[in-house]
Amino acid sequence: MDKLSIVVPCYNEENVIETFYNKLMEITEKISDKYDYEVIFVDDGSKDETFPKMKNLRAKNDKIKIISFSRNFGKEAGIHAGLSNSTGELTVVMDADLQHPPEIILEMLKYIEEGYDTVATRRKNRKGEPVFKSFCARMFYKLINNFMEVKLEEGAQDFRMMKRNVVDAILSLDEYNRFSKGIFNWVGFKCKYIEIDNVKRVAGKTKWSFSSLWKYAMEGITSFTTAPLKIAIFIGIFVFIVSTIFAFTIIVQTLIMGKDVPGYASTIVSVLFMGAIQLLCIGILSEYISKMYMEIKNRPKYIIRDKIDNEK
Ligand code: UDP
Ligand code: MG
Repeated sequence: MDKLSIVVPCYNEENVIETFYNKLMEITEKISDKYDYEVIFVDDGSKDETFPKMKNLRAKNDKIKIISFSRNFGKEAGIHAGLSNSTGELTVVMDADLQHPPEIILEMLKYIEEGYDTVATRRKNRKGEPVFKSFCARMFYKLINNFMEVKLEEGAQDFRMMKRNVVDAILSLDEYNRFSKGIFNWVGFKCKYIEIDNVKRVAGKTKWSFSSLWKYAMEGITSFTTAPLKIAIFIGIFVFIVSTIFAFTIIVQTLIMGKDVPGYASTIVSVLFMGAIQLLCIGILSEYISKMYMEIKNRPKYIIRDKIDNEK
């Protein structure tokens, strides 16, 4: 019998984890004639009762593994830890807040049986989301897909089922800055997207703030394209052409009409303009340098404080 590993990164999910578990068990029950399962809860340094609640569940069901981080390392680290510890022929990654409805697993299995290597989900729409947030998200995908050789699927979620070879491929990318949405696409394989409705989380609240979304967007850009690094060249060429024309006009004007020293306005505008462009380019450079710095340090992606599974 094939085993399905269910990886669930959790950060402060004390309000939903039990509901989630019960819903999930209804599904594993339904597939029990064909698939065995294991649940891998990754406690991403939760500050609430998430970890004790996981342990309670584990006491009832030894198919649950728990990995608990020493602090909050972020969802990407949680996914990585979960995938590294998954032992099933199939692995599904899903959120604990029931925004990824467990019944979709049944549909995913159908496609896997049809021969797809991986099945992912895509949001039908961004209904129920703040207008500004969905506007920013749309702009982000437009921008990034213009530059990247690997396309990011708009609205794609981290809710995916993968065969063993896909999981191994993902784990073989050993980078510290993990942008899983990009990594999932980068490894390739035959992928099926299922459209699902945007579901509100059942309880608790989202961990995304505007600044964390900005960081996420930067991560996505710097992880998968170096196009912004080339921006300086194009701006440079453009400014060079414009300033040559400008200089030429000034010389001609002075020679023919004997014009006075040109005004204050044009000087200040060009100084500020050049300053801004230089800062912009340095900013882009530093974004990449900071990523290189973190990669070179080669720190672990997460630190495990506690691990509960059957091997111990
Ligand atoms: N999560 C995590 N570490 C974090 C933030 C989130 O493991 O630092 C988990 C969280 O517990 C949930 C999933 O990632 O299971 C998605 O988080 P959230 O619901 O806050 O994000 P959203 O659904 O709003 O994108
Ligand atoms: Mg959520």
